[in-house]
Amino acid sequence: MAEYNHILVGVDLTVESRDVSKRACALRTAFGCRLSCVHVIEPLSLAYGGDIPMDLSTIQEQIQDTAKTHLAEFASSLDIPADDQHLIFGRPETEIHTLAEEIGADLIVVGSHGRHGLALLLGSTANGVLHGAPCDVLAVRVGIKDN
Ligand code: AMP
Repeated sequence: MAEYNHILVGVDLTVESRDVSKRACALRTAFGCRLSCVHVIEPLSLAYGGDIPMDLSTIQEQIQDTAKTHLAEFASSLDIPADDQHLIFGRPETEIHTLAEEIGADLIVVGSHGRHGLALLLGSTANGVLHGAPCDVLAVRVGIKDN
């Protein structure tokens, strides 16, 4: 099996992040390699454009503060040092690609809901990350309920 030296895990900070990160941590142990994590905040101006006629900067700051706290707690629980915790603004797919290149990651780990039908056509973050990725991508199935 190919060795990985630096894994980057994308976390959306939902409960499913735990499953995705568990897999990334198992690979870190298996390869004895470095693990970084990233959470991307989509700017409200990008999501809503000029549709909302009000100043969104205060709400955006609150979102950033909350995300910063949650990411720090989450990453510490995985023994990821502060230097390897990344909080970035932009579109998740694009920013994950850019960061992976910047830090020299050779594997990106993201969650995938294995969507079907319309949701599949509309795409997902995992699909977006896969297309044009600068390195290998592992899509960890999440959101599967036990019967
Ligand atoms: P989604 O397609 O949005 O359900 O997300 C699938 C996976 O993409 C998540 O489990 C994360 O690994 C990654 N992801 C989604 N949104 C973000 C985000 N804002 N920042 C970092 N990773 C994300």
